[in-house]
Amino acid sequence: MNITVKDLSYRIQDKPLIASISLDIQEGELVGLIGPNGSGKSTLLKNMYRVLAPDQGEVFMNDKDLSRMSHKESARHVAVVSQETSVAFDFTVQEIVFMGRSPHKKMFDTDTSQDREIVHQALSRVGLLHRARSSFSTLSGGEKQRVLIARAVAQQASCLILDEPTNHLDIRYQLQIMDLVKTLKITSLAALHDLNIAAYYCDRLYVLKAGRIIASGSPEQVLRQDLLQDVFEVATEINRHPLTGKPSITFLPEMVVRS
Ligand code: ADP
Ligand code: MG
Repeated sequence: MNITVKDLSYRIQDKPLIASISLDIQEGELVGLIGPNGSGKSTLLKNMYRVLAPDQGEVFMNDKDLSRMSHKESARHVAVVSQETSVAFDFTVQEIVFMGRSPHKKMFDTDTSQDREIVHQALSRVGLLHRARSSFSTLSGGEKQRVLIARAVAQQASCLILDEPTNHLDIRYQLQIMDLVKTLKITSLAALHDLNIAAYYCDRLYVLKAGRIIASGSPEQVLRQDLLQDVFEVATEINRHPLTGKPSITFLPEMVVRS
């Protein structure tokens, strides 16, 4: 499945938060969305997963207009892993993963053996079968994110939207979550904070600045000194990493630049 965003804008009281956004994600791609705090990444993603309704523009899933689908139908196409890992009540891990099945069910339908098998597989895929009966609140940050990814897997959506999925995680868990997303091979769009992680994992990147896309392309094309200076207002040195072959970014503090 591919995703196309056409000329999307969203404003609050005449203040445009994002403007004229067009992008596409091809089948199986992992595409990164980068940009400083407040540049509109979450706003764009929320417009794509229908928590917000755009003032202008459309989102298509394989040429099908998302806004013409019921919310339940769009949930069969798009799964979301957001950065808020708190849940209101203390559900168990497997209860949360079972929630991924709800877009496939009618009201009052009970869980079938097929649902149980899908949930089992999803938990196995993220390495959390042994925590199935644990309460979500007792898990570590990395485990919580893996549960939310398992819920997305159980949802069997063909697209995944992630909003800074590795926020607040130790580097080991950041890599583990990104490895997991990569191996799912689902068409994915992820807002990412860490530019080196974006460089390593993403097939392509879009760069947001003040609500507009100002650059896009492969990590090699996008992650350049002048662009990072302009967008993030930091000096960098960028090398091709000898082992990964990907851009490797070193951030240079002011005092180094001046010396
Ligand atoms: P990012 O995810 O890139 O950090 P956001 O999409 O969260 O950026 O925010 C984009 C801009 O929109 C920010 O300047 C933020 O303050 C503003 N914003 C977000 N939500 C609201 C809102 N409900 N009302 C007013 N401004 C908002
Ligand atoms: Mg955000």
